[in-house]
Amino acid sequence: MSNLELNQIDSFPQELLEISIEKLYTLFPGPTLLHLQGKRPEPVFVSVLLHGNEGTGLHVIQRLLKKYQHSVLPRSISILFGNTQAARYGKRVLDGQSDYNRVWPGTVEPNTQETMVMRKIVNEMERRNVFASIDIHNNTGLNPHYSCINKLENCFLQLATLFGHTVVYFLTPKGVQSMAFSKFCPAVTLECGEPGSPSGIDHALDYVDAVLHMKYISNDPILPQDIKLFHTVARVQVPEDVTFSFTDQNANILFKSELYKMNFSVIPADTCFGIVNSNNARLFAFNDNEEELGEKLFYINNQQIKLTKPMMPAMLTLDEAVIRQDCFCYLMEQLPHP
Ligand SMILES: [Zn+2]
Repeated sequence: MSNLELNQIDSFPQELLEISIEKLYTLFPGPTLLHLQGKRPEPVFVSVLLHGNEGTGLHVIQRLLKKYQHSVLPRSISILFGNTQAARYGKRVLDGQSDYNRVWPGTVEPNTQETMVMRKIVNEMERRNVFASIDIHNNTGLNPHYSCINKLENCFLQLATLFGHTVVYFLTPKGVQSMAFSKFCPAVTLECGEPGSPSGIDHALDYVDAVLHMKYISNDPILPQDIKLFHTVARVQVPEDVTFSFTDQNANILFKSELYKMNFSVIPADTCFGIVNSNNARLFAFNDNEEELGEKLFYINNQQIKLTKPMMPAMLTLDEAVIRQDCFCYLMEQLPHP
C-alpha cells in the first residue's frame, strides 16, 4: 500500500453514524484520528478496527456519537479508525499490510509506513495528556468478555475490572496498542466476544461511557473477589511447514474441533489436541521472551499430540486463517491475587 498517512480531524460527517463497516473506507480511506472536545480536556483514546474484521468497536462509537449528538461529552475523546481497507473486505489484515495491532512503538517489526503512523498517534495522544486508552477487539471461539493489560499497577487493574472480573496480563506479542499506551496512561484491550454480538457492543459501549464519566482512575488495590487474573504462558503456533485442518484427515495435524469450547477453562494434562499424521508434525509455543517451549508443553504419543500439564487456553479458534496469521491459541495460568 503506497503512502499511508494519518488523517486527523475534529469533526465528522453525519454518514459516519450509520455507515457499514465495509463502507467505512469511503469516508476514511486510511487510518483516521477523530478528536472531539468534552467537559474534561484530557481525552480518552479509543481505537477500533485495528483488525478489520472486528466490528464491535465501530458499532460502539456509532452509538456513543449518537448518544452525545446534542449534548457535550463528559470528557474529550480521540477515536482511531484503524484498518478501514481490511474492514472493506472483512479481513483482519490485507496481504501486503502489517497487522495494525503489532506495529505500535515497542514493536519488533521493521520500520514501515504503519509503524510510522502508529508512532505519530502515540506522540499526538501523549501531547494531549491522554487520560486512558481503550482498544476494542473481537475474537472467535467461545470466550467470555475480558480485558487485557500489560502492567500490573493498581490503576490498570481498576480500569480492567471495570469491564469484568476476567483480566489477562501479557507481555507478548510486542507492538500492541495497549502496551504502547501503557508507558504513559492506564490502558486496556477489550475482548468483546464474536464480531457483531449485541451483548459485546452493549457491554463495551457502557464501559467507554463509564470511563468518559470518571474524574480520575483510582490507584486503590483491587479486592480479591473482584478479579480473576490470568497470565499468558505461551502463544501456540503451527510451524509453517506443518499443515493442519479440523476436517481433512490428510493434514499433518488434524485438530480436535471441540477444542474451541475449552477457552477459559482449565484443561487437564494429557488432553489430546489433535491427531498427528507426519513426522514433522509439532506445535510451537513461545513464551514472553520468545523462547520456544513446544516440547515442554506438548508431547506426542500414539499419534496424538497432548498437553504435558494442566493449562487454560484462550482464543482457541476454528478459523484457519486466524491460526495462520496469528496463532492457534494462548495458554494461560491463573496468577495469585496481585
Ligand atoms: Zn483483534
